[in-house]
Amino acid sequence: MILMQGKGVSTGVERGKLYFYHRADSTVVKCASDNLEEEKRRLVDAQEKAREQLEQLAEKCREEAGDESAILFETHALFVEDEDYVECIMNELEAEQCNIEHAVQTAGVQFAEMFANMDDAYMQARAADVRDVTQRILNNLMGIVPGGIDSEEPVILAADDLAPSETIQLDKSKILAFATQGGSGNSHTAILARTMGIPAICGLGDSIRPEYAGRMAYIDGETGRLVIDPDEITLKGFQDKYQKQVEMKRLLQAMKGQEDVTLDGKHVNVYCNIGSPADVDAVLANDGQGIGLFRSEFLYLAASDYPTEDEQFAAYKAVAAAMNGKRVIIRTLDIGADKQADYFNLTKEENPAMGLRAIRICLNRPEVFRTQLRALYRASAFGKVAIMFPMITSVWEIKECRRACKSVMQELQEEGVPFNPDTEIGIMIETPASVFIADELAKEVDFFSVGTNDLTQYTLACDRQCNDLGKFFDPHHPAVLRALKHAADAAHANGIWIGICGELGADLTLLPTFLALGMDELSVSPASVLPLRAEIRKSIAKTCDLKLLEC
Ligand code: PEP
Ligand code: MG
Repeated sequence: MILMQGKGVSTGVERGKLYFYHRADSTVVKCASDNLEEEKRRLVDAQEKAREQLEQLAEKCREEAGDESAILFETHALFVEDEDYVECIMNELEAEQCNIEHAVQTAGVQFAEMFANMDDAYMQARAADVRDVTQRILNNLMGIVPGGIDSEEPVILAADDLAPSETIQLDKSKILAFATQGGSGNSHTAILARTMGIPAICGLGDSIRPEYAGRMAYIDGETGRLVIDPDEITLKGFQDKYQKQVEMKRLLQAMKGQEDVTLDGKHVNVYCNIGSPADVDAVLANDGQGIGLFRSEFLYLAASDYPTEDEQFAAYKAVAAAMNGKRVIIRTLDIGADKQADYFNLTKEENPAMGLRAIRICLNRPEVFRTQLRALYRASAFGKVAIMFPMITSVWEIKECRRACKSVMQELQEEGVPFNPDTEIGIMIETPASVFIADELAKEVDFFSVGTNDLTQYTLACDRQCNDLGKFFDPHHPAVLRALKHAADAAHANGIWIGICGELGADLTLLPTFLALGMDELSVSPASVLPLRAEIRKSIAKTCDLKLLEC
């Protein structure tokens, strides 16, 4: 038996083959070639593969979404062998006597620019198709697997660590669980695992070795144990726990359709945290009553360039419409710190968690902010959208945010574009500064949502990404809980509502404290909705106390 011990960061038991994540380096490096015939042969193979992939995608799309959606992939498949495009690649290859990757990339850029500079809007939009097809051919040339997992069956995904921009691009249907050497319970891989409702272990260190790839393993996201070749007793333990998990899930189904109310009538809004429109399926499947945090930056992390207003609008509108009138709180871009996208060209910082991130970037780059706000307000016509600003520390910041909102609303009105002028505006309480001036901030906004992940990090001066801090990173610390009380009292004294969207919201041991604080909303991963509802419905709010706030 091979036993590896890490830290469980998302509960659940699973069994599956270990697959090691291959970090794809998609940078094309130009190099000389003395065998152009070989380069041409490689291109033909990559084109052939691209055509097959696109035909399969078109077929899948036709089955799932009808003919119209399939046309896009069919057009891409034709473009792979477009005469002018291929000629452009060949010219570049002959002229530069280089590797085919460089020729394809150069031809792709030239072709995309040519389309982008055309007068006709339809032709301009074709630039994106050229980029897409070019990237597909390049991926095939460089052996990059889209979605990062080259396996027919779902796997336990092992990695040294995963950056948020990497996790967002993974093919989720292929992942049974995560097991990482580094990372922490607050990393976005852990958060993603909880959103997906699958087990995850971090901090396995060197014990998880690449030579274990392909071996059948058992993972327990509660105890943090990963086992290969379990002995009889260990195997029985896993099997029993798996059965209990299945039974628990079955019992929790009874919670669907029930109200989130305590025995003495205190109502709590149980909402969900999501990172992409695709997560809404899990929200609906778990009967979440709204979206308390849509981390919009994941749209940016999944892209190779700034998402356009229309792309963002489509994503926000899809979520708002799917939630069918239930509140959808979309947080504006919270990029920076561990969430990096190359095209932002952010300066490397010594302390990125305290650097230029989140609202600071938006206020410094008004065009990026404006594009997102326009998309958000346009989406507000299609559901109950609320806008939330992250990392607020000062009153002037929220005043500037409001000015930006007003100017966008004015623009849309002049253009005759529909939007909801009463869209709620809220802020995240995740810095000690925002806690101390919560009474002033409450006068400027419609709601507060406490980001306990960052609030814990900044209150305790403990890096949320660092797995070695152990007991020092303690979200139950009285200082954190007192900060919650300070913010809750300020919110209620000023007639606004307050919720929690950090990971602490799902901590059932703290539910009595949250009830005693009068929290109006708890936003948790979709898989945590029904267990939380079951606990709320067993609770008596008026008997809950604030004992945990004492040292
Ligand atoms: C938080 O800080 O608690 C939060 C919800 O935001 P994020 O985890 O995305 O920083
Ligand atoms: Mg945060």
